[in-house]
Amino acid sequence: MLDIQKIRADFPILNREVNGRPLVYFDNAATSQKPQQVIDKIVEYYTLYNANIHRGVHALSQEATDLYEEAREKVRAFFNIPQAKQVIITSGNTHSINAVASGAHVFVKKDDEIIVSAVEHHSNIVPWQMLCERVGATLKVIPVLDSGELDMQAYEGLLNEKTAFVVVNHVSNALGVTNPVEEIIKGAHEHGAMTLIDGAQSCGHMKLDMQALDADFYTMSGHKMCGPTGIGILYGKEEALNALPPYQGGGEMIDQVTFEHTTYAGLPHKFEAGTPNIAGGIALGAAVDYLNELGMDNIAAYEHELLIYATEQLKAIEGLKIYGDVVNKAAVISFNVTTLHPYDIGTIVDKLGIAVRTGHHCAQPVMERYSIPGTVRASFAFYNTKEEIDIMVQALQRAVSMLS
Ligand code: PLP
Repeated sequence: MLDIQKIRADFPILNREVNGRPLVYFDNAATSQKPQQVIDKIVEYYTLYNANIHRGVHALSQEATDLYEEAREKVRAFFNIPQAKQVIITSGNTHSINAVASGAHVFVKKDDEIIVSAVEHHSNIVPWQMLCERVGATLKVIPVLDSGELDMQAYEGLLNEKTAFVVVNHVSNALGVTNPVEEIIKGAHEHGAMTLIDGAQSCGHMKLDMQALDADFYTMSGHKMCGPTGIGILYGKEEALNALPPYQGGGEMIDQVTFEHTTYAGLPHKFEAGTPNIAGGIALGAAVDYLNELGMDNIAAYEHELLIYATEQLKAIEGLKIYGDVVNKAAVISFNVTTLHPYDIGTIVDKLGIAVRTGHHCAQPVMERYSIPGTVRASFAFYNTKEEIDIMVQALQRAVSMLS
């Protein structure tokens, strides 16, 4: 059991007011809030041991390097990744996906096919379209059913000997639906295809085990799991990372450089050119500690309770339609009320101190699938409460009566 009031005291931002009302923060799918423990780590780095890592023999550089590598090890253990060198620290989930897609011409050849799903974030569509253009491959799409679930029968039909890569998100940011990634990965592997799972919406909300999941690549956003912005993770199987060419050239990623020929460093450095976000990496380690302390199973159970409660309360509002109202989902609710524009609803509830997201959520094909301009999205985290959900529901009722 989580002590929510004690947890809330760790998040200083939850004390602030917006438009004269206590903040109700329901935009966790866009970015999570940060506990004091994470904020302190950033300040500590710049106050006590700011230095570049991996390069210096001096004490500060060694201290910073040790803490950065300690954070990598924490991430490794948290996601049950076999070796720390399989944890590539990136600037974010988008960077992680691009790092794979930009070098994936080694896995995808002319006339091959890449399968994506109809519920992807643009950052898991566009890099693969760019790859298709470069190599002459074709993008195929797993359709989404009215329920918000992927059409798995159609997926089976799409798999064939030309399938080179399958890329899907673990949880859709637009609908909150959890995709059957185990089954998707298994199907891809049976056809000899590589897999990348976009874990932006799963990484801070459920227990993840990279070895059990068996994806070739898995990507994550640090800022969606209580870490700072500008930091992300790319996990890969060792042989997959070894086969993938480096994304960027520069310092740190080399072994030997001459004007005639350059050889690359081993993992993880091959993918970590240049000075990284050192404070961000160290603070991500603190975020992992924080989540570990609470326990991912406790977090998932509590967030599910919030989801069930909010779904029931929202359904009591006349004309409200939830997209992706299924059992297997994360604590994200995407909805519209009659034909009211989501932006208008979002603007009114903001005046009442409530942060929800409105629009297409960087998933325009999903909105097109349902023939809507966008949705209102309320997404919860373990520091939210049922009382806050009640406040949102009242505010929505007020917005609806003002706009109708
Ligand atoms: N994929 C999904 C499912 C997301 O929800 C997001 C962000 O909202 C991204 C990718 C992009 O992540 P980032 O903006 O952290 O790079």
